Amino acid sequence: MSTIRQQLIALLSQREYSARELSQALHIREKEVYEHLSHIARSLASQKRKLLTLPSDCISCGYEFEDRRRFTKPCRCPRCRSERIREPAYRIV
Ligand SMILES: [Zn+2]
Repeated sequence: MSTIRQQLIALLSQREYSARELSQALHIREKEVYEHLSHIARSLASQKRKLLTLPSDCISCGYEFEDRRRFTKPCRCPRCRSERIREPAYRIV
C-alpha cells in the first residue's frame, strides 16, 4: 500500500492527473485511487504540501463543481442535468 501511495505522490508532484489516468498508470481500480488520494491528502498536510483538486465541470453548460469536497466525479450537472461531466484532476503542490 505504501508503495502505491509513494508512486501516486511522485506522479502527482510532476503534473496533474485524473483518477482514470492514475488507475491506468498504477494498474489499480479507480475506487482504490480515491481511497489513496484521501489518505494522501491527510498525510501531506503535515509536510506543508497539499493535494489540489482541479474541479470537474459540465461539458454542456460549463457549470463548475468547485465546492465539491469528495474526490469522486459527480454524475450529473445540477444546472442542466447533463451527464457529460469532465473528470476532476489532481496535483500535489
Ligand atoms: Zn450543465
